[in-house]
Amino acid sequence: MALNPNNSNKKCRVFLIPQLMRGHLIPMTDFAKLLVVAHPDVEPTMVVTPGNAALIKSSLGQSQSFGRVQILTYPFPSECTETNVETMGVGSKEETMLINKSLLSIRPVHEELLGKSKPDVVVADSLFYWAPNVAAEYGIPCLFFFCSGVFPFVVFKHIYDMQPSMGFDDCHRVITVSNLPGPKIEMPVTELPNYRIRHDEVTGKLLDSLFRSLPDVFGIVVNTFRALEKEYCKEYERIQSKRAYFIGPVSLCNASNVDGVIHRGGKGDVGCLRWLDSKEDGSVVFVSFGSQCYFKSEQLHELAIGLEHSRRNFLWVVRGDNMEEWMPDGWEDRIAGRGFLVKGWAPQVAVLSHPATGAFMTHCGWNSVLEGVSAGVPMLTWPFAAEEFINEKLLVEVLGCAAKVWDGGKRSTREEEHELVPGSAIAHAVSKFMEPGSKYVAMLSKAKNVAVSALAAVQYGGSSHGDIKNLVKDMFGLIGKNVMPN
Ligand code: UDP
Repeated sequence: MALNPNNSNKKCRVFLIPQLMRGHLIPMTDFAKLLVVAHPDVEPTMVVTPGNAALIKSSLGQSQSFGRVQILTYPFPSECTETNVETMGVGSKEETMLINKSLLSIRPVHEELLGKSKPDVVVADSLFYWAPNVAAEYGIPCLFFFCSGVFPFVVFKHIYDMQPSMGFDDCHRVITVSNLPGPKIEMPVTELPNYRIRHDEVTGKLLDSLFRSLPDVFGIVVNTFRALEKEYCKEYERIQSKRAYFIGPVSLCNASNVDGVIHRGGKGDVGCLRWLDSKEDGSVVFVSFGSQCYFKSEQLHELAIGLEHSRRNFLWVVRGDNMEEWMPDGWEDRIAGRGFLVKGWAPQVAVLSHPATGAFMTHCGWNSVLEGVSAGVPMLTWPFAAEEFINEKLLVEVLGCAAKVWDGGKRSTREEEHELVPGSAIAHAVSKFMEPGSKYVAMLSKAKNVAVSALAAVQYGGSSHGDIKNLVKDMFGLIGKNVMPN
């Protein structure tokens, strides 16, 4: 790789600062692995609280190839230490909210850490919106890492800009996202991110701050690939002046990292992979709602009934110790041999690429979207929060490789508005989805094509491979460039 000649013998120390939730820690660790592979003189350091270091270590796996990724810890905010949980979505909802509330107090800790360590470049999670300013205090250039895609970004930016003139309080309203390339995108107001309200106390302010700090970063790094979001990448480049590096799908960097792929983000249940080995190709629905799913017991009960009556094989990831609250009587006996419960953490990427997996029921978190399309698996979508309904639009309406689980009533990002999805509807959706000769065949073919383009993007000469090379080159070019604070 051609480097800036003035810096050709230098090491480039890059600090990566992920937000404290698994959907952010996992892709950023993959990004660190990509940097290691991209250049022998890049030294990435994951900067996290002590309680999250183990998660990074298990994601790195035993392989020596990623041994150059360092981990540096900073203290967890003292307001939350009594919770014993440092990752959002791992403990109770209350604990997650407590961490969320105390995030602001991390700013001075980051300040101290960057002042002491003075890395060459900082890549911060975009939710740490203060990072560019803090880094600039020490003359350090900063980039943002986006854990979400370009489509949700541009849709959301358009909606956000439309807000002052739109009646967002009318919950029956459907809005058309104007000036977007591709198919017309219409969103019921209830499916817009809860943080759509500009003046919402916590998240509204956070987003204001994020959009305000965008001009201060050198560029943004996005876990996506150009072929997936082509028109929207162009749209991003039209509305944002900051350069963007589309480097995903980052999960594909684990292809030969057997241990890392199983324990990516947590101690993965290996038993489910053995169970999949016993099933016919394409016969299993993988049911997983990300790292932070908080379904009510009534909904879990309906889902259990739905999966039972679908008569399909299923592999379902559940959490918590309260199974007796939702599990129908005798259910485990009735589904024996046909259903497998992962009570904890599934090796999701390995499950999705297993030949037995034929469909993925997902909440449409961005990592799951990318991991699903990378594996070429058609998806059944069940979004319920944040920008997940927007991601669903990309899968169902733009890419055509997914169908909704349920559309029979009001769907909403607000938990208090969630309608119970009946077991009979779930059974019907799952059973129909995989019926031979159904729309599934067309979706499977589209999903397989996207998977081929995902692989092509990360291989030598592919767009993501090129963007990582350019990013590394630019990082070396930034060494010693003193960034001035605003
Ligand atoms: N994941 C996993 N095993 C599980 C649940 C989730 O490996 O049992 C991983 C999944 O592969 C993805 C991440 O956790 O990388 C979840 O991120 P996503 O953006 O899909 O959802 P979030 O958890 O942020 O809502």
